Parts: sequence; structure tokens; C-alpha cells
Amino acid sequence: MVIEAPYYHQTHQESEVFLQTFQNRMPLLLKGPTGSGKSRFVEYMAHTTGQKLITISCHEETSSTDLIGRFIIKGAETVWIDGPLTTAVREGAILYLDEVAEARPDVIVAIHSLTDHRRELFIDKLGETVKAHENFMLIASFNPGYQRGFKELKPSTRQRFVALSFGYPTAKIETEILVNETGVEQDIAKKLVAIGGKIRNLTELGLTETVSTRLLVDAAKLINSGLPKRLACHVAIVEPLSDDAQTIESMKDLVDLMI
Ligand code: ADP
Repeated sequence: MVIEAPYYHQTHQESEVFLQTFQNRMPLLLKGPTGSGKSRFVEYMAHTTGQKLITISCHEETSSTDLIGRFIIKGAETVWIDGPLTTAVREGAILYLDEVAEARPDVIVAIHSLTDHRRELFIDKLGETVKAHENFMLIASFNPGYQRGFKELKPSTRQRFVALSFGYPTAKIETEILVNETGVEQDIAKKLVAIGGKIRNLTELGLTETVSTRLLVDAAKLINSGLPKRLACHVAIVEPLSDDAQTIESMKDLVDLMI
């Protein structure tokens, strides 16, 4: 059975960067706002390189134990269970730590020795050091805007990675993405992209996060399945972005003028 490649539209030579980073056994950091295609890119590259992909969505409670592994009681015995990081290191998979800055600080400590020439993982509970499989690759993502200096990645950590920035694609590429991803008519896709561009430029709205490609894809999907265009934009683009009544009204007015 041939598994189809996930659809990904390249925007800035990121495939080349990925392949060379992989060849040189370096870790990769993907920076950019939510919904800008980081995860899709990783899925696409894992498929292209034929690598197994293990994804961890990091949150405040994610600890090194969750990644490395733990002892569990099984009947009368205590057995060790490898965590996803250890599995990836042993088997040679791609480990994708999504939103790494959200995780507890001990996660960053645990991955340090994997991000330099040593490429090894120290499992303190086993007193064992595991050399990474040749094909092991570490990828992390983080969202610089969203963290707002609260949960920044330390420069000493960032400098261990090759880093790629993700933003919003050009209008032409973003239109292509909407059409390919949802099958929506080209004309409607163009209008959605124009709405996205307009709201992104309205910095005075003071949005914490602005319109991502994901939100435009969602609106296109709803339109395609029969929801009226304006309503689809209100619920898929406007409402997720703000809870402030006035801001919502301004964005809805803008949408109604444009579609
Ligand atoms: P992130 O990981 O940055 O939060 P995702 O990779 O989940 O974002 O992207 C969200 C959605 O946006 C995807 O499911 C896809 O529909 C669409 N998307 C964004 N960028 C691209 C792209 N370059 N090519 C194809 N689809 C994209």
C-alpha cells in the first residue's frame, strides 16, 4: 500500500534546509505563530525521508520523565517503559516537540546532550547512556509571539538548533493552499486570503494572535460544505481571535464588506 504524502506547499526553501540539517545530524527549531504550517511541514518531511515521526505536544506539565520513561509495577515486578524520546533515540525516528517552551525546564536539560556532537541520552533512572541511532532527529517548535517573554527559550538552548521561521505565505501561495486543502473555488479562496491579509495588517485591533492559514482553511472548509460565506468567516476566523465585543464587530463588518 502506498501512503500518500501529506500536502505541503513550500514557502521558503524549507525542504532543502530540512534535508541538509538531517544529513548533518543537527537538531531543527521551527519558529512561528500557531497555524502557520509547522506541524504539516514536519509530517511532510517525515514522509519524504521515510522516517517514523513521533510527536509530543508539550504543555506545562510535560516533564523529562514523560519523555524519557518510567518504571511501572507489573504484578510482582517493576519494569522499565521507554518514553517517546528514548524510543525515538533508540529506533532512529524523528521526535517533534511541539511548543517546546511550554514544557517544564527539565525537558530542556534532558535534550541538551542530544543537541550537540554527543548525540546521546542519559537515562538517570537506569544509570544508562544511550547513543542516538544514526537516523534520530530532534525537531522542536515554538511560537515567539505567543510566549511574550514569559516562556522564552534561553539563548543557550536556541543556539543548539538550526532555526527556520514560519510566517504567512504570500497571497498567491496561501490561495493555492486553500484550494488544494479544501477544494474551495479559487475566487472564494482569494477573498478569504484577502480578508486574512487585511486583518493581519490591522495592528490596532491588538489581537494576541492574528489570522493563521489554519483559520482560513477552516473557513474554506465550512463554506465548501454549505455554510453561508459570511457566517463561515464569522465563526471560523473572527470569533476564535477575540472575545472583545467591539473588536469582533469591527472584524465582522470588515468580513461582510469583503465576501
Ligand atoms: P502549526 O503546526 O504551525 O500550528 P499546522 O501545520 O497545524 O500549523 O497548520 C495548520 C493548517 O494550515 C494545516 O492543517 C494546513 O491545512 C494549513 N497549512 C498551513 N501552511 C501550509 C502549507 N505551507 N502547506 C499546506 N498546508 C498548510
